[in-house]
Amino acid sequence: CLNRQDKDKETNVQVLLRCRPFSEDELRSNVPRVVTCNENKREVTVMQTLANKQVDRVFTFDKVFGPKAQQRSIYEQAIAPIVNEVLDGFNCTVFAYGQTGTGKTYTMEGGMRKKGGDLPAEAGVIPRAVRHIFDILEAQNADYNMKVTFLELYNEEITDLLSPDENSRPTEEKQKKPITLMEDGKGCVFVRGLEEESVYSVNEIYTLLERGASKRRTAETLLNKRSSRSHSVFTITVYVKETVIGDEELIKCGKLNLVDLAGSENIMRSGAREGRAREAGEINKSLLTLGRVINALVEHSAHVPYRDSKLTRILRDSLGGKTKTCIIATISPSAYCMDETLSTLDYASRAK
Ligand code: ADP
Ligand code: MG
Repeated sequence: CLNRQDKDKETNVQVLLRCRPFSEDELRSNVPRVVTCNENKREVTVMQTLANKQVDRVFTFDKVFGPKAQQRSIYEQAIAPIVNEVLDGFNCTVFAYGQTGTGKTYTMEGGMRKKGGDLPAEAGVIPRAVRHIFDILEAQNADYNMKVTFLELYNEEITDLLSPDENSRPTEEKQKKPITLMEDGKGCVFVRGLEEESVYSVNEIYTLLERGASKRRTAETLLNKRSSRSHSVFTITVYVKETVIGDEELIKCGKLNLVDLAGSENIMRSGAREGRAREAGEINKSLLTLGRVINALVEHSAHVPYRDSKLTRILRDSLGGKTKTCIIATISPSAYCMDETLSTLDYASRAK
């Protein structure tokens, strides 16, 4: 398996900002707008009133998508180039980061319903990426295989979102398969015990996404707020057969991780005491460590603290080095979310 992971000093972290539209409820109750987006200047402005004076704060990103931006244009402008890298044999990661309710899941998964034929306009990054990969490989008449896994990380514990229902399994299989993180000597990480599905058409992706969503719903009734505190990682691995001179056959493989992060309100604020926050379950180790890992990569630090959380261990071979990373930070336009919006913008600006 040829996987091009050169560990050079180049970092490729792209940070995009997406502001969702007002919901119908927000429109009806006339919630004041405090965010404006200028897509051409790649700027986001937050209008803040401090001591009766209006103080605007302006942030610049690699790309800015305002409330009218379509799922398709986000995919074409930001994600399609990353998928091309994956088909070239690189590992890449796309994160959705932001407060709960700002559109992380909408951006990654999008509207779920698919009525045959084409992808719906609300289709998010995951179905579009799968579609794009199929289209390119089919056009090349390539000999390929696409596999996906879908996991959830909650409280540093991994749940397989694709594993068959406990109830539909034969009794002797009912014991939970232990899921463990394994690392080989070369820094490659894999999650052992995860269900890996080969995918042959885009339609299947919707079945898999719904299977994951229904698994999460079951878990949700057991523990409130779980979905805003958990991360989900959808991984597509593509194997393409390449024939080389002579009889030797080479398989090129690339991996794309599509990560829907826990709500950013779960990150520890500088004011909070770590001990107490941990007790209250407010600290999210993986979210915190991810921020540190990305900062270390952007600043070319000698030490990147991958080992400090499960999420960063899972993604280790797809963060840093020659990989491409894209962070889509999501915000709400509403005055009621201003504090969280400003901290999302600060966090995302630091990742550049
Ligand atoms: P999160 O995953 O960040 O908690 P969701 O993706 O669930 O947020 O979005 C919250 C609600 O807002 C959902 O009903 C979703 O359909 C809607 N929404 C989010 N972003 C958009 C958008 N860009 N356009 C239209 N509706 C959106
Ligand atoms: Mg969500």
